[in-house]
This record gives sequence, C-alpha cells and structure tokens, in this order.
Amino acid sequence: MTTGVVLARTGSTYRVHTDTGEVTAVLRGKLKHRDDDRVVAGDVVDLELQSDGHATISGVRRRKSVLARRAAGERRPRAQPIAANVDQVVVVASVRSPEPSPRFLDRFLVIAAANRIPAVLVLNKIDLDRTALDRLLERYTPAGYQVLATSVRLPEGLAAFRDLLRGRESVLAGQSGVGKSSLLNALDPGLNLRIGEISAKWDTGKHTTRAALVVPLAGGGYVVDTPGLREVGTWGIDPELLAVCFPEFRRFLDQCRFDNCRHLSEPGCAVRDAAEQGAFDADRLVSYQRLYEEVSVPSWSSDRRRGR
Ligand code: GDP
Ligand code: ZN
Repeated sequence: MTTGVVLARTGSTYRVHTDTGEVTAVLRGKLKHRDDDRVVAGDVVDLELQSDGHATISGVRRRKSVLARRAAGERRPRAQPIAANVDQVVVVASVRSPEPSPRFLDRFLVIAAANRIPAVLVLNKIDLDRTALDRLLERYTPAGYQVLATSVRLPEGLAAFRDLLRGRESVLAGQSGVGKSSLLNALDPGLNLRIGEISAKWDTGKHTTRAALVVPLAGGGYVVDTPGLREVGTWGIDPELLAVCFPEFRRFLDQCRFDNCRHLSEPGCAVRDAAEQGAFDADRLVSYQRLYEEVSVPSWSSDRRRGR
C-alpha cells in the first residue's frame, strides 16, 4: 500500500500524486457509497496499486483543514469541501497595477483566520515602488502577519517565496494581475504554469463545478488552484467571532465595557479606543465593520445559530 495526495477529480476518477509519480485512481466500492465529497483535492489517501498501473483509493486520512464553499442544501445551505489539508493562505498583492486594496487583503486574511489557516502576505512588483512596502508593514505588523516583498522583474524575494511554499500546501489568494502566476512560474519554470490553462486542461466539462486542483511544485509542496478563497467567501463566519480574526484586536476584546460589544458604536469599546490611540491602523477597524455588516445579514450563519 502507498499513500498519495489527490490533485484533481474528474467524474469518478482522481489524479493522485505519489512519491513515484502520478496515478489515476478510483474509489473502492465501500467509499463510493458515502457522500460525494468524501475525497477532494488535497486529501491524503491510501492507495492499492494494480499491476496495470491503475489504482484504488482504499482510505482517506483525517483532514488537517478543509476549505468549503456554500452549496445549496435541501433545507439550508451546507458546507461543500473544495480542498483539504491547506497549510497556509498566501495573500498576494502588488505595489501597482493593481494597487493594493486593504479591503480585499483584510477580507482574504479574515477568511483564512475563520478557517483556522495561517496566512502570510506577499507584496509583489516592488520594482515599481518601494514605499508601498512600508505602508503594508505598518498596517499588518501589529497584527503579527509576515510580509514578504518580491519582484519577478528584479528579481527579489524569490528565494524566500520558494522557502515559504516548500513542503506545504498553499492557497494563493489575490486580485487578478498581482503576479501570482508569474511568481509560481519564476519558482518552478518546468511547470510552465498558466494556472488557468491547467484548469482548462483537467476540467473536461463533465464536472464543471469548478472543483479545486492541487498542483505539485518541483521543490516539494503543493499549490491549490481555483476556486480559491473567493469561492469560500465569508459565509458561515459567526459575527461574534469576527473580531478574533483581526489578531491585533484580540488583546483588547475583554476590556470592552459590554461583554457582547460588537465594536461598532457601543460606548466604552476598548477596540475602538485602541484604534483611536494608534495601537493599530484604524482602517483595519473599518474593514472589520464592513465585514461585520456582511456576515451579519440573515443567512447560513444565523440559521446555524438558531439551530443550535
Ligand atoms: P495573476 O493574475 O495574479 O496570475 O498575475 P500574472 O502573473 O498574470 O501577472 C500580471 C502582470 O504583471 C503580467 O504582465 C506580469 O508580467 C506582471 N508582473 C508580474 N510580476 C511582476 C513584477 O514583479 N514586477 C513587474 N513590474 N511586473 C510583474
Ligand atoms: Zn468593543
């Protein structure tokens, strides 16, 4: 028996990466009867290899983490897993074209935190302007995030980027055009990675639910392709737990006058006081408030709370 990592699924077959190469596998009968999402990209599976080169998935290892999207359920939306065992979210921004959008970045960081997945920031295209790095450092250092500066052009920071991805399964998140594909290509030219093309190649049309794909990197490690974090979104985030997803707020949370303070307009709010006193970038609180509105609309999260 051998183990492997599921890279992609097409209908009832799975591409699985093993130490000795890639195999195509089907689920053993017993597993098939369980729910449809039993095996997703990123799952570590036990394989029984046949002499004809085919393989059977005989077991699925416990997942370290799961990224799920909101899928329509019979009575209420349910969580549909799209990628398993993601170790980190790498949020990529660029100095210019497009300029970093704090709202966007904070949103990705919150989605990662809410899914209990560590996040790192990468600021690419620093050949265009170095001062953008200082702005990002000021904003994210109080929150404890690591910020990596890169340029594919110079090049700069690519060794650190390689170290960041090595041996881990990463989701790259960020607006289109920030240089995600360029960074991956710089790291692993043999891959000739145009992530969109890879998706098109494996998404044969039959199963167009935009399942995630996991791409092995030459240096070890994996990158999860679309749908990524955008698809995961903020659904299911409990508004009461949103503030915890902003690490620099945490030490103030138990100092608010009211136990159930939402840090919006309540009097005696220690988080707002801290923002006003410059303990962290006050604009992070603006992101928090926007996201609070978003996650507190009646939806899955409130359904779930009612059902508890
Ligand atoms: P993606 O949509 O995030 O995958 O972004 P791409 O990798 O397709 O890059 C978008 C554009 O930015 C391309 O024209 C790249 O050549 C350019 N680009 C990528 N990295 C850098 C960089 O470090 N510096 C500069 N100046 N341009 C870059
Ligand atoms: Zn408060």
